[in-house]
Amino acid sequence: MRKAKLFLFFLCKTAGLFHLAQWITRDCLKVLCYHGFELIDETSFRPNLFIKLEQFEKRLATIRRYGFHVLPLSEAIDKLYSLDLPKNTVVITVDDGFHSFHRLAVPCLQRYGYPATVYVTTYYVENPNPIFRLVVQYMFWKTRKLELILRNVPWSTYKAINLSVKSEREKVIWDCINYGERECTEEMRCTICKELGVLLETPYEDITHSKTLHLMTPDELRSLVTAKVSIELHTHRHTFPSNNLARAEKEIIDNQSVFKKYLIAEPSHFCYPSGLWDKCQWTLLDSMRLKSSATCLPGLNSHKTPRHGLHRFLDGENIHQLEFEAALSGFSDLMNKLRSNL
Ligand SMILES: [Zn+2]
Repeated sequence: MRKAKLFLFFLCKTAGLFHLAQWITRDCLKVLCYHGFELIDETSFRPNLFIKLEQFEKRLATIRRYGFHVLPLSEAIDKLYSLDLPKNTVVITVDDGFHSFHRLAVPCLQRYGYPATVYVTTYYVENPNPIFRLVVQYMFWKTRKLELILRNVPWSTYKAINLSVKSEREKVIWDCINYGERECTEEMRCTICKELGVLLETPYEDITHSKTLHLMTPDELRSLVTAKVSIELHTHRHTFPSNNLARAEKEIIDNQSVFKKYLIAEPSHFCYPSGLWDKCQWTLLDSMRLKSSATCLPGLNSHKTPRHGLHRFLDGENIHQLEFEAALSGFSDLMNKLRSNL
C-alpha cells in the first residue's frame, strides 16, 4: 500500500504536479514539526519521534530548492492574519526541546540561515534526567534479554516476564510508567530506572551520559537566542487536560515561570502536548493572551484557520522524502481535499 502511494507520488512529482500544487497553495502557511535528532540509535527506537541529521539537512535543502521563505513563527502568524504573508512561506517548529536539537539541529539550521521555533516542556529542563516514560520504553526496546525476572519491585505483580511476548512486555512497561508517574518523586523514578537498567542489562548511566533522552538545560535554551530560535510554550509537565481547565492553566503558568526564572524567554505562542486539544480550551488560551496554538493535525493554514488550531506536518525518520515533498508542496493536502469531496 505504502509502496503504491510512493510510486504515485513519484509519478505525480515527475509530471510536475508537486510544483503545480505549490503554486495553487502558495498563499497558505506550511508549518513543519520535528521532535528529537539522532545521537546514537533513537531513529530505530522511535522513527516517528526522531530524525537523522543527514535526513534533516536534506529536508532543509529541499525547502531551499522549492524556493520557500522560512519565517520565524511570530512573524508568519502576524502576517498570515493581516493578509500580508509572503507567497510560499514555511515555518519550522520543534517540539519538547530535546538536547539533540541544540547539539545537532541548531548548527544545521544556522548553516542555512533558517529561523525555527522550539516549544519547550520545562519539567525536565529543571530536572536534568532522561524523560522517564521514554527511557523506560527505550530500555525495554534496547535490551537483548528474553526474560525479565522481577523480585520485590513495587510496580509489578509479575515475577517473570517473557520479553518476546509483546502483550506481556507492553503490560509491564506501562505498569512501570504509571507507577513511576503517579506514585513517585523524581528521585524515586531515577532509582527505578537504575534498577531496571541492571535487570535489563541496559545501563541507565550510559543513557544518561549520552543525553539521548534529555531536554535542553537552561544555559542551552538561553544560547538559542543568538541562533534565531524562538522558545515557546508546551506546558510544564507535558499535559493539558481538556476536562480540567484549572490544571491546564496551571500547566501554562508553571511553564512560563520556568522561562522567567532562568531568563529564557517571554513566550506568546503555544503547542498542545501530544497534539491533544479541544475547542473548550480556546477561551483559556485567549485569556492568557497567547497568539497561536499548534496542533498535530496535518494540513495547510490560511487566515481562516483558527489561531488555536494551527495545522502542522509531522516529519521524522519514518517519512519518505517523497512524502515530505508531497506535504511541503501542498500536494498531499489537495489530494486529501479532492478525496473527501469525491
Ligand atoms: Zn511534546
